[in-house]
Amino acid sequence: MFVETACRVCGWSDPALPEDLWRGGTPLHVICDCCGSESGVEDISWRTALRARKAWLDAGAQWFAPEERPADWDLTAQLVRLRS
Ligand SMILES: [Zn+2]
Repeated sequence: MFVETACRVCGWSDPALPEDLWRGGTPLHVICDCCGSESGVEDISWRTALRARKAWLDAGAQWFAPEERPADWDLTAQLVRLRS
């Protein structure tokens, strides 16, 4: 079964503890620690995911759960991974 652990909106996936966001095409309604999007809501289509990403970036790419933010977090690298 195809499992997605990277947020479709911001690309975040906890390297130490990746969480399943989508499993076999079914959203698990997990809130992303990074951008605060919920799988199955903001990322239900590529269009809504893009819109949510733009809104998040425009608002300064703030962490939804700042305590989960790695010290060496790199937004640019994360966005590059998202496009690949
Ligand atoms: Zn996210």
